[in-house]
Amino acid sequence: MQKADIVIRDGLLLTINREMDIIENGAVAICGNKIKALGTTEEITADFQAGKTIFAKGKIIMPGLINAHTHIPMTYFRGIADDLPLQTWLQDYIWPTESRFLNREFVYHAALHGAAEMIKNGITLFNDMYFLGKESARAATEAGIRGIIGEGLLDIPLAGHKNADEVIDYVKSARSEFAGSELIDFTIAPHAVYSCSSANLIKARKLAEEFDLLLHIHVSETEQEVLDAIQKFGKRPVHYLEDLGFLEQNVIFAHGIWVDEWEIRIMKKRSIAVAITTESHLKLASGFAPVRSYLENGVTVCLGTDGVSSNNNLDLLTEMDLTAKLHKAYNQDPTQLQAAQVVRMVTIDAARALHKDEFLGSLEPGKLADIILLDTNTLEAQPMYNPYSHLVYTLNSSAVSTVIINGSLVMEERKLLTVDEAELIGRAGDYRQMIRENLNL
Ligand SMILES: [Zn+2]
Repeated sequence: MQKADIVIRDGLLLTINREMDIIENGAVAICGNKIKALGTTEEITADFQAGKTIFAKGKIIMPGLINAHTHIPMTYFRGIADDLPLQTWLQDYIWPTESRFLNREFVYHAALHGAAEMIKNGITLFNDMYFLGKESARAATEAGIRGIIGEGLLDIPLAGHKNADEVIDYVKSARSEFAGSELIDFTIAPHAVYSCSSANLIKARKLAEEFDLLLHIHVSETEQEVLDAIQKFGKRPVHYLEDLGFLEQNVIFAHGIWVDEWEIRIMKKRSIAVAITTESHLKLASGFAPVRSYLENGVTVCLGTDGVSSNNNLDLLTEMDLTAKLHKAYNQDPTQLQAAQVVRMVTIDAARALHKDEFLGSLEPGKLADIILLDTNTLEAQPMYNPYSHLVYTLNSSAVSTVIINGSLVMEERKLLTVDEAELIGRAGDYRQMIRENLNL
């Protein structure tokens, strides 16, 4: 009999491995931060003595969801202003608030709120882009969630960084400060081709080469961005980045709505994945990403929530539902984006997009133990014929009951174990008051 720190038993286990194996009455043995073994409850309980046993009857056991594009310190901007043109929204609401509040304490508190919210929604890894990332890293560590923290790079001075060199120094010092962390990775996130000069994009690429980082950048979110690039550079954004040599390093694009077929082929050639943020695309009326063409060309597609300010939540289950339905309707083809494929987009495909599929994205022995349980023992979830269909079309995030990240239990039966939820709610109210006063709302 071997010892396991945690055994989860009696659940419907979705491995999301290559064969998409499903184990009924399944169980997982976790030792330290890794998955030691998977099998039927009979097999696992015969082999392992558990330090802690989690009973999962009537529940789905699956890999944690991966949020491939977000800005978690924007959580306090939830619903600050909606239904406005992008420029009005930025100039009258977001920028004045950021110029007043973009400091370490604000970023830490807002990121902690966002991290806790994501755990409640079954998200175990997020790919972030914002400023003062050390504070987001501190918050993520405290909440116990895995994060890839991209320090935003723009040409204008921001968040105390005077120029690109200072941003690069910040990323280097953040990397060494969190070098021992099992949860946190740091990278640099050039904001977009319209906000970063070619010299700064190249600096980011050089840093990425030096430390083997994944570059995270917004690309072709609006049609205007493409028209401006053609006017300024004589070519579309992806073409411009390719000619600059920026795409020679590992890159993930956020949005990728306004790309042509040639650009999609370049993305495939350079193994660039794209994070689609459907709710934000719709709310800001940015357009419809060519998801069908991406998939036909073999580009890895994953999903993100984007920041709360343009969504207005950090919920991947609603993102999955909406993305699947939207692209069926858009292509007038209900066979597009089948449920199992959409589930892969928030698990193994997202892990591949973030270069973490060796360790994450599926439940397999030796991989890291990032595991969630979803309750299907409810009126609204019964009967269940196909768990993938349920994940995409039936369940909402309140079905997420238990979350394990890096082998640690961070939520059990919807109770957060790492942070005080009531305290976070109270603090959000305090910030709301301060932000309203600042904006004279
Ligand atoms: Zn974004």
